[in-house]
Amino acid sequence: MNRREFSKGVLMVGMGVGAGAAAGTPVKAASPGGDFYEEPAQKLPVRKFEVVIAGAGTGGVVAALAAARQGARTALIEAKGYPGGTVTEGGTALHSFYNLWKAFPGVAKRQVVRGIPQEIVDRLLKVGGCSGHAEMLEGYNYDSVCTCIDTELYKLVTFEMLAEAGVHVFVNTLLAGAIMDGPGIRGVIVESRSGREAFYARSFVDCTAYGDLAAYAGARYTEPNDYAVCNSVGIGNVDIDKYYAFLKANNATGQLARGIRSGRLDQIVRAGAESINVPGMVEAARAIGMGMITTTVHDNYLMFIKCNLQMAVSPTNRDEVARAELEIRRRMAKAVELFRQYVPGCENAFMARTSPRLCIRRGRLIRCDYDVTLPDVLEARHFDDEVMVYGFHDSAPHFQVKNGGTYGIPYRALRVAGIENLLATGMMITSNHDAHMSTRNTVCCMGQGQGAGTAAALCAARNCGTRDLPYSALRDALNQAAVYFET
Ligand SMILES: Cc1cc2nc3c(=O)[nH]c(=O)nc-3n(C[C@H](O)[C@H](O)[C@H](O)COP(=O)(O)OP(=O)(O)OC[C@H]3O[C@@H](n4cnc5c(N)ncnc54)[C@H](O)[C@@H]3O)c2cc1C
Repeated sequence: MNRREFSKGVLMVGMGVGAGAAAGTPVKAASPGGDFYEEPAQKLPVRKFEVVIAGAGTGGVVAALAAARQGARTALIEAKGYPGGTVTEGGTALHSFYNLWKAFPGVAKRQVVRGIPQEIVDRLLKVGGCSGHAEMLEGYNYDSVCTCIDTELYKLVTFEMLAEAGVHVFVNTLLAGAIMDGPGIRGVIVESRSGREAFYARSFVDCTAYGDLAAYAGARYTEPNDYAVCNSVGIGNVDIDKYYAFLKANNATGQLARGIRSGRLDQIVRAGAESINVPGMVEAARAIGMGMITTTVHDNYLMFIKCNLQMAVSPTNRDEVARAELEIRRRMAKAVELFRQYVPGCENAFMARTSPRLCIRRGRLIRCDYDVTLPDVLEARHFDDEVMVYGFHDSAPHFQVKNGGTYGIPYRALRVAGIENLLATGMMITSNHDAHMSTRNTVCCMGQGQGAGTAAALCAARNCGTRDLPYSALRDALNQAAVYFET
């Protein structure tokens, strides 16, 4: 069935066909006792697609939309009950659709990421779920534009867009393995309450943040553990204007942006400082790794306050993660307490939202055909196979893209090394920490998603591997989909 035959707005899910074979089937113990249990082989029902995208997060949503719009029968697999990923659970702000222009007199402000990421913003604006592109008015390290989102509306809006595009969305479904066929992936194994199934496809995109699919497929990877884990808590019943006045009174205004809040223009939508020198609060905040920066698109709500925790081992270690989950929940509760105690207008604040599970800016680092370097970013280098351009760096002005320009993300940086038909996007690519501080930002992940999803669909249609796709075909498709390029 062609995607155009699907009725608009009807969500394609995995009901009925093929599901249910393994759920609830008791498995007999082969030999009682012992340290290992040998799992018996099972016959799994197979479903066939052209493109499988693993992970419906920041990059995965855009990848699935791009693949389905190319006409590919596309499956999107997501462990949680909704799309959105870390953008709805971490910073809640999209950085940045624009170049860093302010530090370079004479350089024009320009929107360098467009296409599907901009469409998501347009849809959010229609339902009151976005601040618009809010220019930073203060903020030494954010010489750009901050686009704040309503985390819950983001989930709904992207879910609806996926349904409209005819993507087969499998939420509450875990990607649990890869079925290899020589140097390529034949299919993936998924698990849900409907049972264990195999999804076959021609092309695959790993958007799981952790590189789960690439790891299952035998790709080379490392686990740098170079970021603290960092969850965010949404705080309700607060007054953001009083919060900003409090920061100002304490000489601690690090960041300020104005945009749409509760339907009114020119309101504070981002405010904060890295730290605040209020005796009692500063020590307590430091002890829980709390930052003071927040975004909002609603009156009376701080969309996020971050709490950090540096783990001794990589966040792929389940037992250490369990300990960290508890500790970070304690920290988030403490953060709300500090707001109640010290910040005027927050006396009756409460915890309105928490990240559903531990967030991190990097889990596994997957080896790809090309690794974007720090000089690539800082020197504003471009490539003959780029899928997008990007101009933001999270550590400006310490690190800035030269002359307020852009660098390119080459297609080869998304091709997983050694595997014929697998692309990767998002926080799992780019080894250099300081280059990653640019490529891992939300808007860059979204743009990579559009590039990878488009390429995966074109490869599937041509029945070719990711290295055999002519760049001209990819570029034409991206141009037609309103992706911005400098030349
Ligand atoms: C606290 C915090 C604050 C941040 N602040 C900002 C900010 O202000 N601005 C900014 O631009 N960036 C910010 N970032 C960085 C940015 O949010 C991330 O780098 C980016 O969202 C990562 O996108 P992604 O597509 O790689 O992964 P994600 O958005 O995390 O998507 C991965 C998806 O895959 C799913 N998944 C994973 N494994 C499986 C599996 N085995 N089976 C099925 N599904 C699976 C997950 O549930 C998730 O939905 C922040 C990050 C954090 C943690």
